[in-house]
Amino acid sequence: MLDEKLILSREEALKSGTDGSSQKSGHQTATGSASKAQLKNPLDAYPRPPYSTEKQQAPGLASKLTPLADHGEKTYKGSGKLLGRKALITGGDSGIGRAVAIAFAREGADVAINYLKEEESDAQEVIELIEQAGRKGFAIPGDLTDRHFCEKLVEEAVQKLGGLDILVNNAGRQQAVEALADLTDESFDKTMKTNIYAPFRVTKAALPHIPAGGSIIITSSIQAFDPSAILFDYAQTKAANVAFAKSLAKQLAPKGIRVNAVAPGPFWTPLQPAGGQLMNALPQFGSETPLKRAGQPVEISPLYVLLASEEASYCSGQVFGAAGGIGMDS
Ligand code: NAD
Ligand code: MG
Repeated sequence: MLDEKLILSREEALKSGTDGSSQKSGHQTATGSASKAQLKNPLDAYPRPPYSTEKQQAPGLASKLTPLADHGEKTYKGSGKLLGRKALITGGDSGIGRAVAIAFAREGADVAINYLKEEESDAQEVIELIEQAGRKGFAIPGDLTDRHFCEKLVEEAVQKLGGLDILVNNAGRQQAVEALADLTDESFDKTMKTNIYAPFRVTKAALPHIPAGGSIIITSSIQAFDPSAILFDYAQTKAANVAFAKSLAKQLAPKGIRVNAVAPGPFWTPLQPAGGQLMNALPQFGSETPLKRAGQPVEISPLYVLLASEEASYCSGQVFGAAGGIGMDS
């Protein structure tokens, strides 16, 4: 059963500053009241720093985040943009991938999610949310650093979904290390295997199944453009993700398959307290952005919806950002 407390209510999200009057804003304004609804002010629509300093063991759980993240559980309203589509999302249990899974399902897609077995509880909530949206949800746990599993994942997803139109390569590993001398070969290798090898392998296995009109999306990062000192290995993988999208878009254009990257700035997800940041920096996560806070996963899922949908039929080989006011070239 979905635990009610795991779903951040709008009220909770607004506690940190607004008067709560934007209740009808954003995705909730699909009906006639849109013109009367008050605009959501992005400065204070969601919790601002300081955040909790509670460290998690990688890969971390959405259910243990303080404050809980908003993946759109109570707010995302679909409008049939992905009706009948079949999507596979890696890292679909928590964070950005979870918000994308919820949005895709509410837009009418059946969704398979991959995650690590330690994340089963997060994943089961996502499956419930997909089913509550009236769509089919499939949980396929497994480790993407295993080449054979990457192939097995696609095979199982295609078989369960009955095809594959949309692939979101979103799973990622991020471990902050202050000095190069302390970055072990094993850790470097695991980051490369998760963030570079897995999207290559999953996409290669998926391609024979993706028809013309299909869409491939990869989650890169602002780190591709403005790497942090403590994310030496991770930042390189995210730059590779940009090249993945730009190169593959050219290769697949003749087949009618679009490929794009999304480059998030700081988002409040388990990745960060599970080793992605130095613990002393975690409370101020996102405060360096002009919007002075971390983004919530629900604030980026609409980009994935657009890129997955036919409405973005002329968008390929691009990088789309959401980074609280930080530009990709800054
Ligand atoms: P998250 O922890 O919620 O999601 C990452 C997911 O990756 C995990 O849920 C896990 O299921 C999956 N994963 C990691 N290693 C795996 C493995 N070996 N096999 C299978 N799955 C594995 O965090 P998130 O922030 O939502 O991360 C999603 C993507 O967003 C990542 O690619 C990350 O690099 C990127 N990103 C995040 C931020 C941010 O600030 N949170 C910023 C830029 C980019
Ligand atoms: Mg997770």
